[in-house]
Amino acid sequence: MRCPFCASPDTQVKDSRVAEDGSYIKRRRFCVECGSRFTTFERVQLKDIMVKKSNGVVVPFEREKLLNSIKLACKKRPISDERIDKIVSSIQRQLETTGEGEVSSREIGSLAMEILSSLDIVAYIRFASVYYNFDTKEDFSKFIEKIKKEVLDEKESDEVLTKSYDKCSLDTDFSPTKKDELF
Ligand SMILES: [Zn+2]
Repeated sequence: MRCPFCASPDTQVKDSRVAEDGSYIKRRRFCVECGSRFTTFERVQLKDIMVKKSNGVVVPFEREKLLNSIKLACKKRPISDERIDKIVSSIQRQLETTGEGEVSSREIGSLAMEILSSLDIVAYIRFASVYYNFDTKEDFSKFIEKIKKEVLDEKESDEVLTKSYDKCSLDTDFSPTKKDELF
């Protein structure tokens, strides 16, 4: 493993730890050349996944990218990093076992939104609002109406959604992300 700071091939493993659920091995590494420390993760990958974007371009699936998108959507929500990591692993595993070597960005988006919708409504709305790339507030309101029927109990829905909507409109951290940057 090359050092990410100075590109020297001379790095050493200082410590290896298997995750509690055995899903990955975390290694602390040390660069002999520049003294930097960094961490690598070893995970099972059943096969390479290629993602077909909405514009037709095909790119390799990047776990980190999806992880960061979901992390952003879950920002300040009561969802641990460990949980998010498991969500991404679950999506990745489902993509690997679909049989196709190539998946559409739509499939990844659907999987992510399916999980988020049952996990946290605010995270779901944030993710979906970028994924669907609403042009107008009206489109966004239509979407809110739709999930109101799908996801929420009528009694509490109005209050929760009004809060969520305010959060989304105020959340400048997540809003500039473009759909194609999500995963
Ligand atoms: Zn180095």
